[in-house]
Amino acid sequence: MARITLDDVTKRFGEEGDSVVAVDDVSLEMQDGEFIVFVGPSGSGKSTLMRIVAGLETQSEGDVFIEDTVVNQLGPRARDIAMVFQNYALYPNMTVEENMSFGLKMSTDLSADEIERKVTEAAEMMGIGKLLDNKPGELSGGQQQRVALGRAIVRDPNVFLMDEPLSNLDAKLRTTMRTEINRLQNELGVTTLYVTHDQTEAMTMGDRLVVLNYGELQQVGTPLECFYRPANEFVAGFIGSPSMNFFKGDVEGGTLTVNGFEYDLSERMLSNVGDRERVTMGGRPGDFDLSTDPVGTNSFEVVVDVVEPMGSISYVYVQPVNQSHDETFVIEIDGQKPISEGQRLYAYVPSEDVHLFDME
Ligand code: ADP
Repeated sequence: MARITLDDVTKRFGEEGDSVVAVDDVSLEMQDGEFIVFVGPSGSGKSTLMRIVAGLETQSEGDVFIEDTVVNQLGPRARDIAMVFQNYALYPNMTVEENMSFGLKMSTDLSADEIERKVTEAAEMMGIGKLLDNKPGELSGGQQQRVALGRAIVRDPNVFLMDEPLSNLDAKLRTTMRTEINRLQNELGVTTLYVTHDQTEAMTMGDRLVVLNYGELQQVGTPLECFYRPANEFVAGFIGSPSMNFFKGDVEGGTLTVNGFEYDLSERMLSNVGDRERVTMGGRPGDFDLSTDPVGTNSFEVVVDVVEPMGSISYVYVQPVNQSHDETFVIEIDGQKPISEGQRLYAYVPSEDVHLFDME
């Protein structure tokens, strides 16, 4: 069990003057038992940050604490951390049982009986009790990942670190394993840091998300906070699928103009604008609606470009008729609604559902 604190952690790779800042002044506190997901696009510093927590990489500046102890000088073993990787990292010549018990045999003075009991228990937990005598090469990708997780569990560590553990599995298995890892984390209550570039994984797994871009912390919050109250345009665009629609807007005398269309903002939204003159307005596809007639004052005419039926919902790509630039955006509608390409309709988004961001 462990609380982990990062204090002004920066990591630079390469020579002075020609270095890459992989992690840029990140401060963060992860509570004991919390499930934290580091999420961001490729190259945003997620793995580097996790490797710094593990002790596999040394930060250029800043401190890492486990509980109240600075662990900067401690190697991975002394930090009592178990890692699970995307390529499973199993020993091919050992059986499942040997793979799972190897670490314990090397690093503890537990008796053979105790080790066997722990391995059997973890194997049962992961549903691989019948595979203990098999070699990794005889197992499917999903089974191998279960072994890797089982091996982490037997160690009974302070912290689990998981770096894209599901990215080599097919889509269906990924969904199953997502649920399994959630269940496991709940049951064991061990502080877990999980790295992924997949926003769906992030939304469904973490207690809190740590959203990173170019090594910089963008937002720390629950998945729903990041979805409903994104801190900036980057988070708004990254969390949620399909992505939020963005429109450039000008503010003058309390009026927001988007694509030549005057947008009637609520009092609350107006107070968010502050003294900005240019903003980006964002709206989630599901917050827009389409109708044959204008609804309220915030409707504008669009022409339907493409309809993408998904079953219970459809994604409708539309273009504003009076647009100042070529901007197609997407609206999520009930899949039963008959809409055809080329049709002219009115798009509408309630003013309380729009988001305003500084223009990037
Ligand atoms: P992510 O896990 O989000 O994909 P990484 O932490 O792997 O991102 O990488 C962050 C940045 O640091 C990238 O620009 C990457 O090229 C760079 N980087 C990572 N590891 C090294 C390394 N060992 N040497 C040089 N640059 C590195």
